[in-house]
Amino acid sequence: LIQLFRPLDMLGMVYRTVRQGLIDMAEMFRLIDTQSEVQDLPGAPALVVRHPVVTFDDVHFGYEEDREILHGLSFEVPAGSHVAIVGPSGAGKSTIGRLLFRFYDPQAGRILIDGQDIAQVTQASLRAQIGIVPQDSVLFNDTIGYNIAYGRDGASREQVINASRDAAILPFIEKLPDGLDTEVGERGLKLSGGEKQRVAIARTLVKDPPILLLDEATSALDSRTEQAILATLRRVSQHRTTLAIAHRLSTIADADRILVLDQGRLAESGTHAELLGARGLYAEMWARQQAEGGD
Ligand code: ADP
Ligand code: MG
Repeated sequence: LIQLFRPLDMLGMVYRTVRQGLIDMAEMFRLIDTQSEVQDLPGAPALVVRHPVVTFDDVHFGYEEDREILHGLSFEVPAGSHVAIVGPSGAGKSTIGRLLFRFYDPQAGRILIDGQDIAQVTQASLRAQIGIVPQDSVLFNDTIGYNIAYGRDGASREQVINASRDAAILPFIEKLPDGLDTEVGERGLKLSGGEKQRVAIARTLVKDPPILLLDEATSALDSRTEQAILATLRRVSQHRTTLAIAHRLSTIADADRILVLDQGRLAESGTHAELLGARGLYAEMWARQQAEGGD
């Protein structure tokens, strides 16, 4: 039980710090290193990804011993496809992302990437394969270039510039007094929500992972900025296995497959058209959001 609770404290602490949008990297590693209970198995091999297929196989998980959140969840994200997870708040959507990144281990069932159980490989090799764009991206109190290069050890200036271009943040950076060397955060420039998300996307592009995890990546943005960021995300996720958690259904209607999660169970799945036709939970959520003006 202790093993389950300590990472919760850690995440809570990181979250509270991170929520302010800024964190010192040393501080983040201190929090993670001292608190993380998920350990590599002795002699664990590295994850080797040839076909980035993600599989949840009868996964049971709860943060607390007596309260299961995911009740035997099974699904597959085929290599290169786009799968969206939608559902009411508290359904367990973000939990799926946390398990995939192995902040926690399931109590039963397995999570596989390209056929390898992620609990059996090193955490470093697992996390190298997954790029995350969360709702509120974290910027380090450093230069904008550093914040982008952070995606990959030893990233070159050229890689940073190319990623910035692909994330459509390069024109913005070029107008800054010191370009990539401009300080962000407390010491310097304050970025808007959309600019921060673009920096996060550029960071992910520098990392160049085969798997993308988007957790409400645009939901904190106004709708015009959201449309622009969505267009960028669509472009950068094109040849990557993408798991997109979404609140606004209009943002994922074009996914190859949509999973509707309700109280930790898969309630429905299909394409947007299939789910509308099924007249179930998805259709109901869609109708409600349309009535509210897409929100
Ligand atoms: P969603 O992303 O679908 O809104 P989450 O996956 O964040 O839902 O949460 C699913 C459930 O797990 C919720 O009931 C939430 O309260 C609970 N939960 C989430 N994070 C924690 C945590 N760190 N400790 C305990 N319970 C949590
Ligand atoms: Mg969530």
